[in-house]
Amino acid sequence: MRSLVINGRIFCDIISIMGACRMQCVSCGGKEFSKITDYIYKERLFKQMFPGLRIMKCRNCGLCQVCHQEIEKSKLDYYYENIYRDKAKIGIKLSSGDVSRFRARGKALVGLAKKYLPESVKTPAVFELGAGYGFNLAEFKKAYRDCSLFTDEIDKTIEYPPEVNIASPDKGQYDVVLLSHVLEHLKDPKEYIYTVLKGLKKDGIMIVETPNDITEVLIHRGNQPYYHEPHITFFDKDSISYFFKINFSDSLMMLRVSTAGDVLRITSGTLAAAKRRLRDLISCFPAVFKTLINIKSLLFGSRAVEKIDYTNDSDEGNREFLRVVLRKIS
Ligand SMILES: [Zn+2]
Repeated sequence: MRSLVINGRIFCDIISIMGACRMQCVSCGGKEFSKITDYIYKERLFKQMFPGLRIMKCRNCGLCQVCHQEIEKSKLDYYYENIYRDKAKIGIKLSSGDVSRFRARGKALVGLAKKYLPESVKTPAVFELGAGYGFNLAEFKKAYRDCSLFTDEIDKTIEYPPEVNIASPDKGQYDVVLLSHVLEHLKDPKEYIYTVLKGLKKDGIMIVETPNDITEVLIHRGNQPYYHEPHITFFDKDSISYFFKINFSDSLMMLRVSTAGDVLRITSGTLAAAKRRLRDLISCFPAVFKTLINIKSLLFGSRAVEKIDYTNDSDEGNREFLRVVLRKIS
């Protein structure tokens, strides 16, 4: 065995085999995995709740994921209800640049709805899982004045627009279901899609957006000012296509799979690692962090923001957002 030569490597291999024993792929059910990398945490509470995560790649379907069987659903729900925005400061609106990026993303998703919704649907009922501040739904309101908006956002600290109603995904009659940066957070993404299908009308569309986590990006993320937290599944164009094809082809027709946003750049240099460490350091002092963000936003925000266009969907697999549009056929 080559790995016997290096002690540290033996240790890693044994851990990875032990960890993989009870692990089952959330997409294909496969039980064989290769270790990709240790998990890069952002905030101590997530690490305390879910310590020692590793990102593994399913040898059957290629989907990267942590061991979902080690994640307790009640703990994960608690995290999103109480910690995600309030304490970990993830998914919050900080600067005018962030707000503009949220809006640009919403506009792009509305563009897809306009393209794929049946023309007869003039006032769609739109459901978004975990709508956050409601940026996507607000863009739907601009495009379809008399549409109805629904979400099941569980974060009590959020103030969303008053026209957004709290609802269940499986209880409605929705024309559009939005899953914008959602699937990668869920303990059981397959089960959630089955739930959502109950509330989606026949011929209605499901628009899914996730980060495009190609394996090289996952491996080098530790050298960049980004983190894996709190994602637990990491899709790329092939693995998300396969996810819908093998699990939902009876009920959902895939209309398109694309990537959009900036082209992914993989940095393995020490400068990027230093940037991440600096960001870690200043984020320990929230007031300083917020001031720096505001200064950056004042200096560069408005100029950068004008150029943001996330409607650049491409068939290539190398951009930062993955998008899938599906139509319910039965
Ligand atoms: Zn798999």
